[in-house]
Amino acid sequence: MTAKTFYIETFGCQMNAHDSEKVIGTLISRGYTQVETPEAAGLVLYNTCSIRDKAEQKVFHRLQQFKRDAGKGKVFGVLGCVAQQEGEKIFEKAPHVSLVAGSASYTKLPQMLVQLEQGDRRVTGLSLDTDETFETPFTRRDNPHRAYITIIEGCDKSCAYCVVPFTRGPERSRTRASVLEEGRRLADSGYTEIQLLGQNVNSYRDPSPAGWDFATLLARVAQIPGIRRVRFITSHPRDFVKPIVDAIDSYPVLCDHVHLPVQSGSSRMLSAMDRLYTRDEYMRCIDWLKSARRNIAITTDIIVGFPGETEADFNDTLALLDQVEYDSLFSFKYSPRPNTAALAMGDKVPEEEKTRRLTIVQERQRAIQIRRNAAAIGVVHEVLVEGRNQALGQWIGRTSQNRTLNFGADRAGDENLIGQYLDVRVTRAGPNSLVGESVM
Ligand code: SAM
Ligand code: SF4
Repeated sequence: MTAKTFYIETFGCQMNAHDSEKVIGTLISRGYTQVETPEAAGLVLYNTCSIRDKAEQKVFHRLQQFKRDAGKGKVFGVLGCVAQQEGEKIFEKAPHVSLVAGSASYTKLPQMLVQLEQGDRRVTGLSLDTDETFETPFTRRDNPHRAYITIIEGCDKSCAYCVVPFTRGPERSRTRASVLEEGRRLADSGYTEIQLLGQNVNSYRDPSPAGWDFATLLARVAQIPGIRRVRFITSHPRDFVKPIVDAIDSYPVLCDHVHLPVQSGSSRMLSAMDRLYTRDEYMRCIDWLKSARRNIAITTDIIVGFPGETEADFNDTLALLDQVEYDSLFSFKYSPRPNTAALAMGDKVPEEEKTRRLTIVQERQRAIQIRRNAAAIGVVHEVLVEGRNQALGQWIGRTSQNRTLNFGADRAGDENLIGQYLDVRVTRAGPNSLVGESVM
């Protein structure tokens, strides 16, 4: 490698973004310097996502772009889900790649770097046989106010459409002691918001003898002095229990937002997807959330066009949207993925039909959000100020419910409000964000 400089591009979910923060910290601790462009780097890394085909294609496109630079002393590495899924095949598809490592091997990153530094051009980290989580003191955090903590890695479910169990390995939780210790350290270094991460964060089970469940951990993280907000993502409906809602009701530090992916409103589809709950069981979780003392925002993920999804199944999903009235949602066309059970299922939904259903879901949800957000006008929310939109002359805030609330503040002048918590009254509402004025 020419110089100890690296460039990293991250695709996909929040877990990947946080994995990259840990990878960056590890590299810096070994004397590397991060640079802004692949051109300026000796080591070029892509932390990849393979949840849908489109995401996977992006990395191969990037690798092609830089193929011509391979001879110029640059070293290329593919990390994350595509690395795990494609393994050594990546060396055939893109011979200029020297490192292929899945997230379950990141604990071995220092050794893999030594191999690369010694000139080894076929370095792999592909074993999924691990009970370790990636814990490092060297995380290079991007945001000065919100810090991520992965509390559980991998996934033991087997949803028929999903690659995650194949790319991120078996479920493994960190000890409560290590989570709380990291939380306290973050508070001591000035972070005020913590976001707990996991593919299924609420499947958390403390591996030490105390054996805390997720609700117990949540309540304890909420009591770390100096922490003003705690978020968590993603919750699996099968492991969602009432004590989680009770904890949110008891500790205002826990944000009033739960992301609870439903995928489909049809119990027939949920069974085909192997989601481990029925529509009624899902609705029981929604009832707990709606009968909480706090006004808890609920968001979800929807997949349209899973094999065998009929018009009646799809209508069940639309009816569910009307019934729950989500605060927002992510919707996806079903994307066939390697190794998954759904690949072998018949009765595929044609691409145009998936597109039609996706558009209908998005239009239906947009109408719901316009209605719900309009109801927020006049209400005062506390926001954490996250940025400034110079063009609009507004500050960008985030409410506890995870809504963007942009606002003007007379007293702002040239004062920097980023990182502060302020009360803002909502004056206008669009489908995706709110606008307001700070309350003195
Ligand atoms: N573990 C979480 C759960 O089960 O609720 C979800 C994590 S997954 C990384 C994020 C979302 O990607 C899923 O909720 C699902 O909607 C979507 N997704 C996963 N596989 C997909 C596929 N093959 N096609 C389309 N969307 C998919
Ligand atoms: Fe994928 Fe299902 Fe695991 Fe979520 S629970 S990560 S959708 S297999």
